[in-house]
Amino acid sequence: MVSRRLDTTQSTRGRILYIEDDSASAHLVERILTNQGYEVTTAWDGLEGITRANEDRPQLILMDINLPNMNGHEITTRLRSLPNFSNIPIVALTANNSPGNRKLALAAGCTGYLTKPIDVSRFPQQIDDFLQGRVEPLSPDEKQIHLEKHAQRMVEHLEEKVRELEAVNKRLQQLDQLKNDFIVLVSHELRTPLTLISGYSHLLNQIFAAPEADETQEPVRELVSGLDTSVQRMRDVVLEIINVSRITAGILEIVPTQLKLHKLVHKVCQKFEHVCQERALALHIGDLKHLPPIEGDREQLELAIRNVLSNAIKFTPDGGHIYIVGRRLEHGVELLVRDTGIGIPPEEHARIFEQFYMLGPIEKHSTSKVSFQGGGLGLGLAITKGIVKAHNGRIWVESQRRDLTHPPGSTFHIFLPLQRSTRQKPKSSIQSD
Ligand code: ADP
Repeated sequence: MVSRRLDTTQSTRGRILYIEDDSASAHLVERILTNQGYEVTTAWDGLEGITRANEDRPQLILMDINLPNMNGHEITTRLRSLPNFSNIPIVALTANNSPGNRKLALAAGCTGYLTKPIDVSRFPQQIDDFLQGRVEPLSPDEKQIHLEKHAQRMVEHLEEKVRELEAVNKRLQQLDQLKNDFIVLVSHELRTPLTLISGYSHLLNQIFAAPEADETQEPVRELVSGLDTSVQRMRDVVLEIINVSRITAGILEIVPTQLKLHKLVHKVCQKFEHVCQERALALHIGDLKHLPPIEGDREQLELAIRNVLSNAIKFTPDGGHIYIVGRRLEHGVELLVRDTGIGIPPEEHARIFEQFYMLGPIEKHSTSKVSFQGGGLGLGLAITKGIVKAHNGRIWVESQRRDLTHPPGSTFHIFLPLQRSTRQKPKSSIQSD
């Protein structure tokens, strides 16, 4: 809920924070105290109250006791543990006027205890007394007894909350599983007819593109070519989803062979030559021939490198540079894809490797794999990470910030062991796990 802040021009007597979930009480107290020249802020629950207290630094806190989530005793104990609130008056204001409750509130850290309904004529003076240093007494013995009670209730409350959270977490996991099953089911259902359509459209395209094709059919040829491109794109999307669902289920099939990374990188780069020219991007490939061969799945690693490179292209403004270099490490090789693009804020470094995660507005979504800032499905890096992990490798990113005006660039590191069976951790400050 949003808190309200009542600023008064003559707020010279100090700031008061009222933590209260009942709007009628809140309005009444606010009216009385603002008329007396106080500045009153209301927070509607405990968490908001703690945040407000830290931000506003009030001189006195009025605390309702029966609040949702955290009750007034718990909030008071928490506030008392913070250096700025160890001494300020925290006054309980509650409808419960039993002596036991008063002592419990004082043991939890309250300075005083006022009951509702408030006595409008006496209330300002009562507040003033607490501001002047009034503290309601509680004998050490009584404090001890009520502190124990307070501690017991807090533990009971904690247990109740943990149970609630566990139940909610279980439900969320079930929903997540349902979502995953649905995605897998739909993509598998789509795959079969799409494979057929894709085969036919490809065939048609070949027929119309053949040199001996009838020239009068030129308009049809263009239509068929457009149709084929769209169908292939659709197929790629469905395959991407199937791929990621296999990775999630841990059933990604790896067919290992001895691979030379320089060949793989050059093959991937060739596919992007045209778009790099169109967007005036300079693609620099370092000397990768010196890298030792590694054991890996050709198709999968090609896909992994393609995803990282297509991102570098997508997130680098026209006229920028992309560098691919490699280095030999003790137990493997490391491939670095560096761009001069818009960068990634450090707090997002781990999350970009999650499924369906994309940074930036959804309106930027585009099926293009290469247009500047065109967002995809948010699967590319999840798939890449899954492939790299299936090779017992690691992938991580280095980037200082996201900045469209002064692009800081990003560097993706892919570490691959020479043998799939050896798992080595390269040194890095930021790593996805
Ligand atoms: P998609 O498949 O939609 O491209 P990815 O999983 O590949 O999604 O990437 C997730 C997000 O990570 C992207 O939406 C983008 O915000 C960010 N990202 C990935 N690579 C780069 C990069 N080289 N520069 C800047 N941002 C990047």
